[in-house]
Amino acid sequence: MITLTNEERNLKNFINGEWTEVTNKEKVYNPANGEVIAEVPNSSAEAITQAAESAGIAQREWALVPAPQRAELLYKVGTMMKERKERLSQLLTLENGKVIEEARGEVQEGIDMAFYMAGEGRRLFGQTTPSELKDKFAMSERCPVGVVGIITPWNFPIAIATWKSFPAIVSGNAVIWKPSSETPLMANELARIFEEAGLPKGILHVVYGSGTTVGQAMIEHDAIRVISFTGSNETGRKVATECGKQLKKVSLEMGGKNAVIVMEDADIDLAVEGILWSAFGTSGQRCTACSRVIVHKAVRKTLEERLLEAMKNLTTGDGLDSNNKIGPIINQAGLDKILKYIEIGKEEGAKLAAGGKQLTVENYEKGFYFEPTLFTDVTIDMRIAQEEIFGPVVSLIEVNNFEEAIAANNKVKYGLSSSIFTQDVNRVFQAQRDLDTGIVYVNAGTTGAEIHLPFGGTKGTGNGHRDSGVQALDVFTEWKAVYVDYSGKLQRAQIDTDA
Ligand code: NDP
Repeated sequence: MITLTNEERNLKNFINGEWTEVTNKEKVYNPANGEVIAEVPNSSAEAITQAAESAGIAQREWALVPAPQRAELLYKVGTMMKERKERLSQLLTLENGKVIEEARGEVQEGIDMAFYMAGEGRRLFGQTTPSELKDKFAMSERCPVGVVGIITPWNFPIAIATWKSFPAIVSGNAVIWKPSSETPLMANELARIFEEAGLPKGILHVVYGSGTTVGQAMIEHDAIRVISFTGSNETGRKVATECGKQLKKVSLEMGGKNAVIVMEDADIDLAVEGILWSAFGTSGQRCTACSRVIVHKAVRKTLEERLLEAMKNLTTGDGLDSNNKIGPIINQAGLDKILKYIEIGKEEGAKLAAGGKQLTVENYEKGFYFEPTLFTDVTIDMRIAQEEIFGPVVSLIEVNNFEEAIAANNKVKYGLSSSIFTQDVNRVFQAQRDLDTGIVYVNAGTTGAEIHLPFGGTKGTGNGHRDSGVQALDVFTEWKAVYVDYSGKLQRAQIDTDA
């Protein structure tokens, strides 16, 4: 069993390189057994004022450090994460609940991101381009924005933080991070790794507290020039509205209602594996979780039978026990939301083919567990097929043909991830073109993003920005256009040309 250090049990803010005590604290629970594992600051807005002041001063120095040297720090951070991977993974499972194998995958995602973004220290490419005038040089370069605010959710407490903080830091910004109050341990670990790796004081701050106080203070502070947010659609909308009032750049990564499409020529066993992994992994609490299966009528019965059979093998319990395939739900509020949607589904006329109930696991009676659940006879307009449930609940929707499948996929307000199982290469390319999501998988489930590709969605999932990939740099940099005239005379653009 993993043992927490005193620092981990009694978390402190990290402001200007100092571990700062806060008297007002909240309890942090292990969702597997409901026990208190730590106490976390419930900070006031004042903490953001302090962090922003020191971040502003430190950032001006940091921006002058050559980017390849800034990158060296990320190589160190990546190496330290690698050395500590197993402990980090266990802590992640302890606070978030996801099964240990998935926790290891999430920590690996952070390690990959460290090395990938460290490489950007020697790229951060701008462009050179011809001038329209003689003896004049034109180019554009990326510049740091300054102080940036990142707000992260509990379901990927370390991966998402690395998607945001690593590109921000390598491109010369200072970061103020408000993690979710549900999962503060990962923030503590990452900040301590940065500190030990030698990050100058004031470049990374961690301020724990509620979104409405600390998050709102970040949005309102003049010195914080960008907010990069990941969380629910509802909160994202509020964040965007508040940022709009301040004319502040905001990047939003929000919810999903992702579908796996199974065509009549699909490898059904492979499709079942893809559905199980993407619907029930992280107990369905992923933004990319498959919560709809859109199936061709010719294979609906076969798929349904095999899926129900396979679901019987999904053991649910403490994520630290590697025999379990599904861990707990994050908290009571998460369970209540899932239960509410079970009732909604039944009232709407969907058939509860499996699951649908809260689970009690022996010796873990105070944990928050839910049965893997399948609704059949679902139509695309039902609320269970439209709204994010964020639990191990899948809806099976039957369609007559490929066109109906694509239309069903697209008829939701979200646009994060989609998948199609088919052997027909023509349909693969048509689907790639017509599925209106930011991520498309072929013959794989709806989860499994790799860090060097852009991550994000269309419609209600985002506002046009992307996390991870080289595209993440766009959130944390400004483009500067530079013209150097070496003609020795005044040359006027658009006027002194031969046109
Ligand atoms: P929430 O929207 O509840 O919270 C996200 C973060 O925002 C938390 O740190 C929260 O703080 C903070 N917050 C809450 N209210 C405000 C506010 N008024 N102003 C500023 N910040 C605020 O999401 P969850 O933590 O429940 O995460 C689950 C959601 O995240 C799902 O909808 C999921 O789909 C989405 N998600 C999207 C991803 C993507 O890349 N598209 C990836 C992963 C998750 P606190 O809760 O501590 O008060």
